[in-house]
Amino acid sequence: MCIFCKIINHEIPSSVVYEDENTLAILDISQVTKGHTLVMPKKHVANILEADPETVAQCAETVRKLAIQITANTNASGCNILNNTHESAGQTVDHLHFHIIPRYDENDAIVIAFNESKPQDLGEVLKTVRGE
Ligand code: 5GP
Ligand code: ZN
Repeated sequence: MCIFCKIINHEIPSSVVYEDENTLAILDISQVTKGHTLVMPKKHVANILEADPETVAQCAETVRKLAIQITANTNASGCNILNNTHESAGQTVDHLHFHIIPRYDENDAIVIAFNESKPQDLGEVLKTVRGE
């Protein structure tokens, strides 16, 4: 059983921020910023590529609610909402989850960089992503 399923089953303790029938939100054990929270479905699914639409929608609604609640209650000035899918994108726990990371200023411990890459032919890229 995966580590998040063990948390959902109360086999491993966690700090529960929010729980409903289908989703659980807990404090991330390593707080990148104060209030860093993980939202996950109670049903085991490895990642968003394998999830059914209903499960994703349930998570999205919990993320929406908690992004408002956590940003307000921490007095954060914003938040990042992040999902890592597969190892290449930084996924370390293979149970779908979304990070809510409150932001206090630009020098927080999280770094998200959109670096310049080589120029792309957008027409070609569009065909690729549309599967044409
Ligand atoms: P990922 O890298 O897969 O997007 O994120 C996994 C997150 O789960 C990491 O930020 C890590 O700190 C957190 N994490 C891993 N194990 C535990 C745990 O046992 N309890 C809690 N609360 N968080 C965990
Ligand atoms: Zn699981």
